[in-house]
Amino acid sequence: MNQTNAPKDAAQRRGAPPVICYGVDQVPTFDAAFYGAARQRTTRIEELLVPPREARTFKVPAGHFFRIVSTEGPQVGDLNLWHAADLSERFFSGKTRALHATHVSTGDRLWSNLPALRPMATITHDSLDWYGWDADGAGVHDVIGTRCDPYTNYLLSGDEYHHGCHSNLTRALAAAKGISLAAAEPHIHDVLNVFMCTGFTRDTHQYFMKASPVRPGDFIEFFAEIDLLAGLSTCPGGDCGSSHSDDVAPCYPLLVEIHRPREGALSGWTPAQRNGYGGSHGLS
Ligand SMILES: [Zn+2]
Repeated sequence: MNQTNAPKDAAQRRGAPPVICYGVDQVPTFDAAFYGAARQRTTRIEELLVPPREARTFKVPAGHFFRIVSTEGPQVGDLNLWHAADLSERFFSGKTRALHATHVSTGDRLWSNLPALRPMATITHDSLDWYGWDADGAGVHDVIGTRCDPYTNYLLSGDEYHHGCHSNLTRALAAAKGISLAAAEPHIHDVLNVFMCTGFTRDTHQYFMKASPVRPGDFIEFFAEIDLLAGLSTCPGGDCGSSHSDDVAPCYPLLVEIHRPREGALSGWTPAQRNGYGGSHGLS
């Protein structure tokens, strides 16, 4: 129930036109011809299967492609990215959302946090790009969710569940770096929800999920703009069409493939540079 009556000019105030916060013409453009050519005739140099309700990490050298592939059944993946040599530079889902949209697809970039703020990866192919926006307002591959975690689960249910994406990613990063869970956990961050189908309800603007349209063979492909360490969790929600944070939903592995472009395919390309802002924040 509102506590305040609408002012007389409420309709006029509500009628202000929306202004896109960051014009797409200001964001460095996606060179479709370059990426389109570079992704032809690549060599698969590595692959990795992420088991259900687990996470794995993998490295992707700058200038390589990586794919996340649906295998045996519909499965959502939670993706974290770090600079391979510096865990403090990591994927910034909030700014990626602001620069692109609530859901990302081919041509969008995954940006790193401040102060580096540079493209970590570019999406170069998405076999679910046909989905668009459905009648519920949902789309695929969101940067609005966070990741399922044991704290929220405990808050809401009082239960302890250990195979949510936050815990999976924490265990995987700890193992990869040979550090404790306590040292790894602060590096886990808000994810790209790969293959997840989500939106906000029209009436209450609440975050919702629905069964992912992903099917075996579908994949999303990224080009590493810098050296990456990635973490991928197979969400215990499976296709996220019912529950998460339990062992009820059917879950499937996700396959990661790393591809090297053919010789000469990247001519003229250089890894993304850190943001050029001087960093004085107004003080000299
Ligand atoms: Zn999850």
